[in-house]
Amino acid sequence: MDRWQHILKKSLVRSHQLAETFGLDGEEISKVIEEYPVRINPYFLSLIQEKDDPIYRQVVPDEQEIHDDVGMYDPLNEEGDSPVPSVVHRYEDRALLMVTHQCPVYCRFCTRKRFVGKAPIPREMVRRGIEYINAHNEIKDVILSGGDPLILKDKELEEILRGLREIPHLEIIRIGTRVPCALPQRITKRLCRMLKKYHPLYININFIHPREITGEAAAACGRLADAGIPLGSQTVLLKGINDDPDTIKELLQKLLSIRVKPYYLYQADLTRGTEHFRTPVECGLDVIRGLQGRVSGMAIPRFVIDLPGGGGKVPMLPPDYVLDINEREIIVRNFNNEVYSYPQPEVEKAYKGG
Ligand SMILES: *Cc1c(COP(=O)(O)O)cnc(C)c1O
Repeated sequence: MDRWQHILKKSLVRSHQLAETFGLDGEEISKVIEEYPVRINPYFLSLIQEKDDPIYRQVVPDEQEIHDDVGMYDPLNEEGDSPVPSVVHRYEDRALLMVTHQCPVYCRFCTRKRFVGKAPIPREMVRRGIEYINAHNEIKDVILSGGDPLILKDKELEEILRGLREIPHLEIIRIGTRVPCALPQRITKRLCRMLKKYHPLYININFIHPREITGEAAAACGRLADAGIPLGSQTVLLKGINDDPDTIKELLQKLLSIRVKPYYLYQADLTRGTEHFRTPVECGLDVIRGLQGRVSGMAIPRFVIDLPGGGGKVPMLPPDYVLDINEREIIVRNFNNEVYSYPQPEVEKAYKGG
């Protein structure tokens, strides 16, 4: 067994362990985790400094999870866009392939709370997903998801990557993961040597709070980057965890310094059991407004809402940059609150497109 597997095995998963570790009511915890399983591995546990801090809130169950009647079971209607059980095919040229229901920690704010940590995905189901992708030559880009694909053993993951790389029309493979952040020991040199055989491969990592950028997480990202894998981040805005501009700014700048390019900043989904984490949309707009012109453009992600009901991702920009667009000019307000004009070209005056 590898070191990371030993670490994972020592995770807190039972109500009495949580009750003892955090001084909580074991009966209450057990009601929550009957519905939504818990896993806090010793590495992520070591990042908690005190009760209710931003790391604690991500992974310690809360009674509010089972008293949410706003959130939906499947807020993005992934099941409606699922032609076979392991695939979500919403955008023509891209598809999600769910390869596992396990994760290095079970985030309390997870969009897929409805199934993560519960029954495993049979390998046969993943195989049928790969067949679906093979039969649909409009799919150029596959995102391995779940669950967390990097929680699979090297051999299982390689079997999936090999199967996908045999599909001639498939160009890009992406992996969505929290492992470099939540269990960085799993990013072994051996894993990186295996992954680099399947380029072009991209990895997007869910980092939530600047305290997650430890020496170990930095080293894990360094090993992946050295294997030629472009790294992006996907961060969810969460009330009481990272919902202020300074925290997000610090996170984004630290990510750049460990070679992770911020990709998306998400408004929280309307997932059942997560309502207590949802921030007003203005919070994300304020974050973006505070970044523009003040930090490296490389550090600025796109703020998006993934629409309930399966409408897809929509970019959200502060509404106050564009004051007017007409045939002659566009009038804009810059990051310093100064108004400028940009003249339109003559030839485009008849422009009707867009
Ligand atoms: C987010 C998502 C994708 C990928 O979208 P990009 O904007 O290309 O990163 C693909 N399929 C589904 C169903 C998604 O939710």
